[in-house]
Amino acid sequence: MTVERAVQRAISARPFNALITETFDTALNHESNALQRGLKPFTFVAKDCFAYQGVPVTCASKMLENFTAPYTATILQRLVENGGSLLGKANMDEFAMGSTSTHSHYGPVKSSITAGNLDNDWRIAGGSSGGCAVAVHSGFADVALGTDTGGSTRNPAAFHGIVGFKPSYGTLSRYGHIPLANSFDVPAIFANTVADCERFYGIMAGVDSYDSTSLDPLPRPENVDLTKLTIGIPKQYVHPMLSDDTLDAWNNAAKLLESTGCKIVPVDLPHTEYSIICYHILAETDIASNMARFDGVSLGHRASDDAPSFNELLATSRTESLNDTVRRRIFVGNYYNVRENRGKYFQQAAKVRRLIKQDFDAAFAQVDVLLTPVTSHSAPLYSEVRAAKFKSRQRQDDYFTQPANMAGLPAISVPMGTCSNGFPLGLQLIGNYLEDYRLLAIANFLH
Ligand code: GLN
Repeated sequence: MTVERAVQRAISARPFNALITETFDTALNHESNALQRGLKPFTFVAKDCFAYQGVPVTCASKMLENFTAPYTATILQRLVENGGSLLGKANMDEFAMGSTSTHSHYGPVKSSITAGNLDNDWRIAGGSSGGCAVAVHSGFADVALGTDTGGSTRNPAAFHGIVGFKPSYGTLSRYGHIPLANSFDVPAIFANTVADCERFYGIMAGVDSYDSTSLDPLPRPENVDLTKLTIGIPKQYVHPMLSDDTLDAWNNAAKLLESTGCKIVPVDLPHTEYSIICYHILAETDIASNMARFDGVSLGHRASDDAPSFNELLATSRTESLNDTVRRRIFVGNYYNVRENRGKYFQQAAKVRRLIKQDFDAAFAQVDVLLTPVTSHSAPLYSEVRAAKFKSRQRQDDYFTQPANMAGLPAISVPMGTCSNGFPLGLQLIGNYLEDYRLLAIANFLH
């Protein structure tokens, strides 16, 4: 769409609070350059943990409130070089920690699926890349770049009835991305259709000399015979917290695939239940070291009062500028990191991670893809996530999405109708490592 049109839509979508920074002038420049070069322009937003030179990058935190990116992330550069116009930086959970997009220094994202008045209560956008989902759903971004460390793209995509694609680890460069947990972090794509996802993935994917973990996905297979696929249904994903609507959508999708000739088989992923706890040990350990750079001295918010000592300066700067979740995770990560605890927690979790990966390897020896839920329910109301009883559920939110990050596998959330309450639902397809294009071909069929 044209930038002019996108800007009008972005302005009407302001009540959803999807953008932290609007870059409409930058977008107009990008568009005119694209037109001059004979390219077909498109609009995009990037989660506010990606750097674009000269534009603020905040990670939705007071810590980076006044920080401007000194360079540009490779994948943003690739989009711009291929006709993309950057419309803005999308709101998110602070430092990408969360699954609701309600924990932002710039206020919560309100989902554009919400019907009616947004003042008192609204549907949450999911997270942590909630602003990206709203940008695509409310129609001002043709594509949005989020991140997915444990589900942060697939979860909000499912809540908005759009497509959310987390590629194989490494196939999208992380250069210019402010990390959450390095060995899980994957830049990820929101779009309206699987075909769009594939197009934008094709523009961005592949080796980047600035990211030593980057690599190319396998080439697109010539023909994927969609009538001869074997689809795995992991037993451990039939979980008591699933709503009846989600269970029905899952069953219906399996039946649909079966009716076209696919074989549906149950598979066993026995270590699934340990995934979340291992994720939090491994992620928090990374978080503790990643966040050490935000000290208020070389980088980030500095405490306003003159601190009596260096240590107090650090402590006050962080206390003033990081939310409870971020500070709790730094604290816990340092606990896991001390010498006497490392063997007890980090190393054990790393071993279980390998077992989770081996479960997937065994599954993919028998099946082409796995079909699972993305979330247990449709998007809850803000008032529901604030209620105490929701807190225990929150950690479970990533139950269906985190294991794919553990194993670095490509996974995609595709819209799968609506719940009885009228709000969207998604289903997930997980593919084998580096078979991203094959997964996209299959997802295109299901969508
Ligand atoms: N909900 C998970 C967390 O808070 C995953 C977040 C993400 O994927 N960025 O760590």
